Amino acid sequence: MSATLGTLIKQVQPDWSIEIFESRNSVATESTNAWNNAGTGHAALCELNYMPEGADGSLSPDKAIDINEQFQLSRQWWSTLVKKGILNDPLPSSTRPLT
Ligand SMILES: Cc1cc2nc3c(=O)[nH]c(=O)nc-3n(C[C@H](O)[C@H](O)[C@H](O)COP(=O)(O)OP(=O)(O)OC[C@H]3O[C@@H](n4cnc5c(N)ncnc54)[C@H](O)[C@@H]3O)c2cc1C
Repeated sequence: MSATLGTLIKQVQPDWSIEIFESRNSVATESTNAWNNAGTGHAALCELNYMPEGADGSLSPDKAIDINEQFQLSRQWWSTLVKKGILNDPLPSSTRPLT
């Protein structure tokens, strides 16, 4: 989260100098470490807790839609960073789907 926030601030205030301090020996060893979370994308396409059942048995998709919109915004953010060369392209051209 700190890396994301720092990158975001740097885009709107490129002249700012930002320092991030990590209390552990290396970064991303807590929740972000791949072995410390479930590894899903939280796109709200299959998580039932984002589509609660009302007392009358009805299902409301509002929260799932809201979460999915946030997920799509995250994807746009990451692809913008790839286009700007700030992030490495996660898909080598040999594995890129045909369009
Ligand atoms: C069991 C579990 C399963 C999950 N499953 C999923 C999932 O499937 N999909 C998903 O999208 N999300 C999942 N999440 C949530 C996701 O992993 C976290 O929301 C995300 O990794 C949080 O990132 P972060 O950078 O905010 O926190 P972290 O990755 O925890 O980073 C916080 C950092 O701050 C450092 N720190 C703490 N205190 C200080 C201090 N005082 N000074 C300096 N540094 C400090 C820590 O050492 C750590 O490196 C899961 C979380 C858990 C716990």
